[in-house]
Amino acid sequence: MPDPSSFQPPFFAGVDVGGTNVKIGIVDDNGTIVAETKFPTKADDSPDIAVEQAKLELTNLLSSHGLDWNQVAAIGVGTPGPMDIKAGLILTPTNLPGWHNYPIREKLSQAVGKPATFANDANAAAYGEYWVGGGQAFTSMLLLTLGTGVGGGIIINDISIDGEHSHGAEIGHMNIDTSDNARMCGCGVKGHLEAYASATAMVDRTQEALSSPAGMTSSLRQQTSAASPLSALMISNAAEAGDEFAMSLVLETADYLARGIADLAHLIDPAAFILGGGMNFGGNHSPLGQKFLQRVVLSTRKLVFPVLAERLVVKFAELGSEAGFVGAAGMARTEYNRRA
Ligand SMILES: [Zn+2]
Repeated sequence: MPDPSSFQPPFFAGVDVGGTNVKIGIVDDNGTIVAETKFPTKADDSPDIAVEQAKLELTNLLSSHGLDWNQVAAIGVGTPGPMDIKAGLILTPTNLPGWHNYPIREKLSQAVGKPATFANDANAAAYGEYWVGGGQAFTSMLLLTLGTGVGGGIIINDISIDGEHSHGAEIGHMNIDTSDNARMCGCGVKGHLEAYASATAMVDRTQEALSSPAGMTSSLRQQTSAASPLSALMISNAAEAGDEFAMSLVLETADYLARGIADLAHLIDPAAFILGGGMNFGGNHSPLGQKFLQRVVLSTRKLVFPVLAERLVVKFAELGSEAGFVGAAGMARTEYNRRA
């Protein structure tokens, strides 16, 4: 157990509500994680149960480190959208059917007796990376998360661009293909970045290329079957093992991502782009991850103004699955300091 005196008070609590788990933690004023845990999300049950459990678990985390709620200044919570951030309401997230129209900010604040801030989960993750992760060195940054979808957040000088209608930084739904045969996005509109650069999209593109009569040779043909369907990890592993076809699909993913980043560079001109999410091709420590990152940079440079090309910074995220609750706590801290 770390020495409690090594932490910098005051402390902040963070809650990250996902479709599978609720991740919670306590961080200190420097963003150092004091303690964290998670519990399964009961997506069909009343969220009142989850709020009570979050309070109980946070109380336990505090007491196990010789702390109590008196040393906690504020709490932050991130949830999937759609939401109404100004009203503090979760609206109608598809993966939380029992939580619709729930005033989570007020309920959580009442439960723990602290001011609460409320954010989109992707924007909260961006804030975590901005505060103590891959974006720590920068005053402005964008996070792009590559997973089953493409999410993201835009943070400029401690402010998360949440938008007037709580749909700010819906990076995955930028249009990167206006052709008639553009790919269909999960949101029902064609041509969005998510329909090209998410893990799901990479699997779909690979499956289509494997099924085409062009006769691509790839180890993926032997690996996939009804019992073991194609996955992003299989494509990544095959590329890493030298499969040229798989590598071409990974680099194509980087090229699509570059189209989105180029638009964002012209729109926002942030100091850095941070790539997070499950699909990082091994990240910094893997030759494939490095190759993917290099390709993103090279392809983006071809699409942007010279100064933006020269100064382009693209990095992998550093916090992993902790980014959400750390960022939610960080947003609570920023709000607390603003009011103080
Ligand atoms: Zn979309």
